[in-house]
Amino acid sequence: MFYHVKELQFNARVSKPDPRFATLLLEQFGGANGELKAALQYFTQAFAARQPYPEKYDLLMDIATEEFSHLEIVGATIQMLLGGINGQLKDVADQSEIMQLLSGQESKEHMIHQAMVNPQFFALTGGGPRFTDSQGNPFTAAYLNANADLTVDLRSNIAAESRAKIVYEYLLPFTDDPYVKETLRFLMTREVAHFQMFEAALDTIQPNFPPGILQGDPRHSNTYYNMSNGSQVRGPWNEGQSPELGETWQYVADPLQYIVDTDALATKGIEGTDRTQESVKAQSEALGKERSSHINSRVPTGENQWNQTSGPLASSAGASHDSAAGREANRQNSDGQGLADGSQPQTSGLGQHNEPTAHHSPGPLNS
Ligand code: MN
Ligand code: MN
Repeated sequence: MFYHVKELQFNARVSKPDPRFATLLLEQFGGANGELKAALQYFTQAFAARQPYPEKYDLLMDIATEEFSHLEIVGATIQMLLGGINGQLKDVADQSEIMQLLSGQESKEHMIHQAMVNPQFFALTGGGPRFTDSQGNPFTAAYLNANADLTVDLRSNIAAESRAKIVYEYLLPFTDDPYVKETLRFLMTREVAHFQMFEAALDTIQPNFPPGILQGDPRHSNTYYNMSNGSQVRGPWNEGQSPELGETWQYVADPLQYIVDTDALATKGIEGTDRTQESVKAQSEALGKERSSHINSRVPTGENQWNQTSGPLASSAGASHDSAAGREANRQNSDGQGLADGSQPQTSGLGQHNEPTAHHSPGPLNS
């Protein structure tokens, strides 16, 4: 359920209209790295997390909802930057000089240029945000990454926050408006905060590398191929220990010869690691069983319900009954940990209600 509060999360202001910057700012409204992308990506990812990993669901939905709040701030800022365009356009009968509509100081030629480079504002929306990027490309769900595996999704989100952050950084020099700069700095900083939240959440899942369940083939996990001529650059990406698996990088200086020598890798052995095909297989099987039993223990296959019966909107405190969802709610309350706890036995009684509070009030702005 969504509940709308009319005030913005951050009091967005502008000093004066600036349709040029409004166009650029569309990048964060309907662009590939914008707020709608972030909001919808985390919202979509949250469905798979809801029952098996309720604490990650909480994180994803809190940040998704904040991203919708950012989308609202960006849209409001675009609207204010467009000033009175819509009002001027409505005055068609008056044949008014629409080219002078904004500050009155813009030259006619400049305004013609504006109309040519932002036709959507002048000819389509009449002065309001649209779900396009700054070039007019329509928003697409192809921007969204959701793979129903938290070790993958959280990494996608860390990347998404990085890109959202840098776009704000790139946008900032294109406005002189101190109010707009203040808003952009707020929005940029929140992406820095989100980056760290997703990183911390990923760290609670152990092991989380490689992403997913299946371990890599130890013959190929630490080989670096020098695939170009000229100078051979060495660094921690191809010498010493690999950062995640701690294997020793094997540097192949002459890949063409190496492919010949190994019959196109068919005879390549395992080097630089203690891992064997057997140990890798055992690791994959154990992790697969652990993750599978965790999810199976928390997601009912028969009767099910999304709401927690002990939640704040339950019609009465005594409404709990012996349903799958009721058991689920108790499990969630008794175990706030992440994936790492695996198939921890659930011993809490059905009557126990450690109600999660503190995060569900409508908020002070509603008073
Ligand atoms: Mn954001
Ligand atoms: Mn963010």
